[in-house]
Amino acid sequence: MDSNTENSFRVCLNCGYQRGFHVHFKEISVEKARLGLICPNCGQSYDIGWLTADITEMKPKKEGTYGELDH
Ligand SMILES: [Zn+2]
Repeated sequence: MDSNTENSFRVCLNCGYQRGFHVHFKEISVEKARLGLICPNCGQSYDIGWLTADITEMKPKKEGTYGELDH
């Protein structure tokens, strides 16, 4: 199968950046976290409804400066 199809979510809907996303994890309960995507170019974040039950302990707290990432 060709993975480079229109079913692939790779291009940022906000700025058109085409090289994929950073991933972030948001804890939603004791046992589950939600995986989200952040555009490394403009900082737009996306909720793709992707849940994981594999993260049992997650402590990082910094959040909220997506728009200033440039490295
Ligand atoms: Zn973007």
